[in-house]
Amino acid sequence: MSASTVRVRFAPSPTGGLHLGGVRTALFNYLFAQKHGGVFILRIEDTDQSRFVPGAEKYILDCLEWCGISPTEGPHQPGAFGPYRQSERKERYAQHAEALVAKGLAYYAFDTPEELESMRTNLKSDQNPSPQYDHKTRMQMRNSLSLCQKDVKQLLDSGQPHVVRIKMPAAETVSFHDMIRGEVSFQTDQVDDKVLLKADGMPTYHLAVVVDDHDMQITHAFRGEEWLPSAPVHLLLWEYLGWKEKMPKWAHLPLILKPDGQGKLSKRDGDRLGFPVFAMDWTDPRTGEETKGFKERGFLPEAFVNMLAMLGWNDGTGEEIFDLETLTERFSIERVHKGGAKFDFEKAKWFNQEWIKRSSTEKLLPLVSQQLLANGLEATENKLNEIIPLVKERCQLVNDFVAQSAFFFRDPASIDINTILPKWDAKKEQFFEHWMQIISDLAAFDATHIEAAFKDTAAAAEIKPGELQLPFRIMLVGGKFGPPVFEIAAHIGKESTQRRIRLCLELLKQQA
Ligand code: GLU
Repeated sequence: MSASTVRVRFAPSPTGGLHLGGVRTALFNYLFAQKHGGVFILRIEDTDQSRFVPGAEKYILDCLEWCGISPTEGPHQPGAFGPYRQSERKERYAQHAEALVAKGLAYYAFDTPEELESMRTNLKSDQNPSPQYDHKTRMQMRNSLSLCQKDVKQLLDSGQPHVVRIKMPAAETVSFHDMIRGEVSFQTDQVDDKVLLKADGMPTYHLAVVVDDHDMQITHAFRGEEWLPSAPVHLLLWEYLGWKEKMPKWAHLPLILKPDGQGKLSKRDGDRLGFPVFAMDWTDPRTGEETKGFKERGFLPEAFVNMLAMLGWNDGTGEEIFDLETLTERFSIERVHKGGAKFDFEKAKWFNQEWIKRSSTEKLLPLVSQQLLANGLEATENKLNEIIPLVKERCQLVNDFVAQSAFFFRDPASIDINTILPKWDAKKEQFFEHWMQIISDLAAFDATHIEAAFKDTAAAAEIKPGELQLPFRIMLVGGKFGPPVFEIAAHIGKESTQRRIRLCLELLKQQA
């Protein structure tokens, strides 16, 4: 590997469904790696054993594969920098935490949860209204800085549960250059002495992210904006561990915001407003709870990825439709916005419609066929080859193909008779009676011939064809939708066309 090889990572925690914000982080990593001929790594951050969910890792990989942005290196495809699951790297973190304690840059803390709780209430003062474990309070707590060496040794020897905390400097300014935000500075007195190693020997995110980014030779680290407040801890860890020169370039990606109100888009917002937030359907193995994903809701991966790329980024040209290849060409992390991007489900569906329009029949065929089958409609490949181009313009979601084409396979389940009735009269009824006979006599039953005959019959009856087309459409499809009506008639054939006219005329008679 040359020194300049770009290495980026997507580092999800396997705790449940993959949120669209996570997929966008993965996408930006993927695009950056592709653009620079680099390596895109998947690292599974599973150090929080209480939140670990079996199956979540496989699900994450499946989602990335569906999006077409599979990582090149990861637990599924190990390279030279494994293991790629943090739980399998446990010893490395402990060793570094100990080294920091030995250098006086971190310390052991023996406080129980009750002691931490009472610190928050007992040490509250006007000067320190919300006390945290930091340079102001640490000497009043039970740790290897406040206790004498003998006591510390005794506590350690007796196996007293303890954590390792970083010793944040009292008054320093730390700063770094964020690829999106520019120069970002923090005062260390604002940040608490974060836990680095937990009592169970597992690292926290803070220690693990630095050790792993170092060991995996990560050159650029892109992560959600929610990690920005922790950046000073990570900066100091890079320095304290003696790796400052090798720190990756960072970019903190803007949040994806709720469509209404303030704050980060959550799964609950999706449930509340009726749209998916996860990439694919997710079933929680612990509770059996099922959550819908974009895929199963009827999104094409191209549209999902395109929509995500535009949440917080654009190429400045006003263009909106991009495939992965063009995104790779145009993408630059510096053009990602600082501000949060509001999620808009209507816009997401617009992207999908644009992608359905652009997709070939060949590509749509298996997806449409599957949807139709799930709704009890069996269609031959030939039939689908004819129907898909006719209706795809009208479909926002792959699932819409069912409503938009069911009438090709079966008589409409309901007829919107109320749209016909206001302008219905005996003359029109006679026209359709006559039209059924004409149909029987038509030698060629294709759209052009049907249309010509329909117009001739209308002219003979002295009715404008425009006034007859809407009832004809409703007779055939049940409502005011669908592709050109003569195309529909041609596809369903003479018999079905006649039967549907007859059925509707009977309904109209009953209403009269
Ligand atoms: N495990 C962290 C998360 O899921 C990763 C953040 C990072 O990329 O450093 O948000």
